[in-house]
Amino acid sequence: MTPSSPHLPAVRAALLAWFDRSGRALPWRVGPEGRRDPYRVWVSEVLLQQTQVVRGQVYFERFMTAFPTVQALAAAPIEAVLKAWEGCGYYARARNLHRAAGKVVGEGLPTTYEGWLALPGVGPYTAAAVVSLTLGEARAVNDGNVRRVLARLHGEKQPTDPWVQARADDLLDPERPGAFNEAVMDLGATVCTPKVPKCPDCPVSLWCAAFQSGQPAAYPAPKVRSAVREMRAVALLLGDAREAVLERREGTLLGGLMGLPTEVVDEGETPDQALARLVTRLGARVTGELGTVTHTMTHRHVTLTVFTGVGGPGRSQVADEPLPRLDHKALELWTRREASLFGTH
Ligand code: SF4
Repeated sequence: MTPSSPHLPAVRAALLAWFDRSGRALPWRVGPEGRRDPYRVWVSEVLLQQTQVVRGQVYFERFMTAFPTVQALAAAPIEAVLKAWEGCGYYARARNLHRAAGKVVGEGLPTTYEGWLALPGVGPYTAAAVVSLTLGEARAVNDGNVRRVLARLHGEKQPTDPWVQARADDLLDPERPGAFNEAVMDLGATVCTPKVPKCPDCPVSLWCAAFQSGQPAAYPAPKVRSAVREMRAVALLLGDAREAVLERREGTLLGGLMGLPTEVVDEGETPDQALARLVTRLGARVTGELGTVTHTMTHRHVTLTVFTGVGGPGRSQVADEPLPRLDHKALELWTRREASLFGTH
């Protein structure tokens, strides 16, 4: 048996009954079902995108102690927000949260999925989570846990994003969408785990194709990774994480996208030679080394050494440009250095 249409009500009921018995008590799950505190849910969803739930709870409490309300967050200087975000991963998320808080304080909290989606840093997953948990709007979330649970229930080895979303929309309980989303998240995190799912404890094993196959962990199939090429590059930060020289890249490293001025270290070349080429091209001077970041893209693993400098062409507002992840990592080196200086005062 798989969760086909006639079985959907039974699968939902079993999942929700299990959630009512065994759902996790987490610090952002405050307020009645479907009417959770939107600020807490929003912060938790942004934070948990990069952090395990156990560590996430500690970071969440620390952030909430520093900024107990969206007004407090909006009124705080960005340096204090970045400091409270330490350890939580990409600082771009904290910057977006801060910008969005400013918007919310001026315009009020969004009351629709589209309204949440329009806020800086809020994507479909966060918007669906917030509106289902805080407004009771019937939106199904779609993340790694949901993908795994649904692929197993349906016995699908290669689930695509649209497939997962369609199955999640079908299964979503229209009466209790928030609880349903939390139930799938909890099932994926505590029972239907990636390597060794605890099928004997699972409330929906009766309808699970992967369980019936005898090899539940084989679903979904691991994503095929092609050979990854190593690449070295140097970048120059002329300015800071707010205002810096940005240029549209050409060539093999993120060509066509805006980013920090960068030169690839060619074969047979040293990083110093690539840096000399970069400095000459920009008419700039190096003042120091910020550090090295690494980043894996589909077919490349990039090691980027980031330098600071002076001179060069005019600066742009960093927040105005959608920069690649690699550049955010490079800018975080500067932010971390500033935050550590800030923390010592
Ligand atoms: S029966 Fe096993 S594989 Fe299927 S959903 Fe439950 S825990 Fe996951």
